[in-house]
Amino acid sequence: MRVGNLMGRLVIVTQDGAAAVDVASASSGRFGPDPLSIFAEWSAFRAWATTAGLAGAQPIAMSDLGAPAPEPRQLFAIGLNYLDHAAESGIAAPDEPTVFTKWTSCLSGPVTEVVLPDGGKPDWEVELVVVLGEGGRRIRESDAWSHVAGITLGQDLSERAMQLAGPAPQWSLGKSLPGFGPMGPWLVTVDEFENPDDLELGCAVNGEQVQRGQTRDLIFPVPVLIAKLSAALTLYAGDVIFTGTPPGVGVARTPQRFLKPGDELVSYLEGVGELRQRFV
Ligand code: ZN
Repeated sequence: MRVGNLMGRLVIVTQDGAAAVDVASASSGRFGPDPLSIFAEWSAFRAWATTAGLAGAQPIAMSDLGAPAPEPRQLFAIGLNYLDHAAESGIAAPDEPTVFTKWTSCLSGPVTEVVLPDGGKPDWEVELVVVLGEGGRRIRESDAWSHVAGITLGQDLSERAMQLAGPAPQWSLGKSLPGFGPMGPWLVTVDEFENPDDLELGCAVNGEQVQRGQTRDLIFPVPVLIAKLSAALTLYAGDVIFTGTPPGVGVARTPQRFLKPGDELVSYLEGVGELRQRFV
């Protein structure tokens, strides 16, 4: 099942992504229309959704979609979670996940125009993103995927000048500028994937592929991240985890390469879809 946020309303999206059913209307108000509160009653929603038809689906425009989890209580992002990306960053493979946040004001839908800051070094980071259904404490690795409502795609856009200014890295600040957290185009439930731990992802700038990876190469895969995060703190329904980026970011290139006005960044995740950002 594909679940989306169409102009602030929860929708079930058809398999081809071309149309959607408004959940509040189809369920006579039992679920929705808020796209975020659904995660707190995810099991009941899934049970209802299996019986709901898509017969009344209306055509949608990708540019009308918002982030599938627009204002999560907590957003976790993981740094240096692919061996080859840690290596290109000149940092040894971590023994424990490197955790930071993207403040939720940066989140947006899948097709956007992003305003670049003056004098910055804006960079791309394509990432597998998961949204939690049931939260909790001390979730076991073996149970972790059952706590995931679905998988989506994210760009952890990063302003490297701000991120690296000062005596200690400002990861969260440099990665939370307005529009620097595109997500989507929708959430795909875990049952749709033959192996949710091995998906291809990548991105291209103006048609030139700059990143390509497989999520089987994550140093800390999704179940490990959920186990380790929930050992440290409480996870809530609707929480979002950006799981880290594969190699190929602009800051690690020789010469370095950053996004500039007029560039188009297209990102993809196998079994989910595409994000499309134009920079101004
Ligand atoms: Zn990242």
